[in-house]
Amino acid sequence: MTHAYPFLSAEQKKELSGIAQRIVAAGKGILAADESTGSMAKRFQGINTENTEENRRLYRQLLFTADDQVNACIGGVIFFHETLYQKTDDGKPFAQLVKERGMVVGIKVDKGVVPLAGTNGETTTQGLDGLYERCAQYKKDGADFAKWRCVLKITDTTPSELAIMENANVLARYASICQMHGIVPIVEPEILPDGDHDLQRCQYVTEKVLAAVYKALSDHHVYLEGTLLKPNMVTAGHSCPRKYGAQEIAMATVSALRRTVPPAVPGVTFLSGGQSEAEATANLNAINQCPLHRPWALTFSYGRALQASALKAWGGQEGERQGLPGGVRQESPG
Ligand code: 13P
Repeated sequence: MTHAYPFLSAEQKKELSGIAQRIVAAGKGILAADESTGSMAKRFQGINTENTEENRRLYRQLLFTADDQVNACIGGVIFFHETLYQKTDDGKPFAQLVKERGMVVGIKVDKGVVPLAGTNGETTTQGLDGLYERCAQYKKDGADFAKWRCVLKITDTTPSELAIMENANVLARYASICQMHGIVPIVEPEILPDGDHDLQRCQYVTEKVLAAVYKALSDHHVYLEGTLLKPNMVTAGHSCPRKYGAQEIAMATVSALRRTVPPAVPGVTFLSGGQSEAEATANLNAINQCPLHRPWALTFSYGRALQASALKAWGGQEGERQGLPGGVRQESPG
């Protein structure tokens, strides 16, 4: 029989589970504002705004200084590295501002996806090198939770056993490193919604992927009470001819979670994965009303489904109003 040498003290466990529970306290979820510089280029392109460090700061300042009404709804905010070291116009670090509003500061620590050789276009996620040291620094700089995203895709031949095992293992390795530094790992194995697969196939694949993830987390001695899961909702592929209602999606999602996610995990914070704000809201509502027992908090860790309207309303206007040199908007071509 294998043996686990304890690596977390009772105090460390208490700290980790306390952080996780604060993030998913009743009525709260996560604002995912950790888009990489490349992803921000795509978001800004949609509002014809130049992707500069200052524009990213202005936009994130708008999010973090939103009306106090949001305090009751946001338990944690995920930052990208650059944002963790940015400040408001008055010179207050964003991390301090967010903490003063009662929200936990999180940081994206993975370094993006890279190809898995010999697979049908599948990937793993890199960023383990130096992660031990980076986590120590991020903890000092105010981060109490982290995010690492792995990606799996559904086709006739994927996800392969290799992709499932490799991504589960890298998520577990990341999670154990975070916990050694008092950082709650959000474990994100995202199954993409691309393809024409139906709801049942997505549910089957989600169950296989989550089962592998929790086996790997167990193998790596990860303390589940001090983790959160960030999965996809179980939905049909975007090009599936059959459309499913929120109740069917909720039933499939909660069934998959109940078969694979231990009750020791305090919360499941869904990604929105390209769903509209209204769709992501309706589906999460149905998930929370589904007539199956749910031992975890079920909430959101949305990027696009929390930001789409805000981004559009902002439209780069802050910089324009301030009369920044050249304004912040790019001239339309022609
Ligand atoms: P979306 O909610 O836009 O999918 O983004 C959440 C996220 O952080 C994906 O890693």
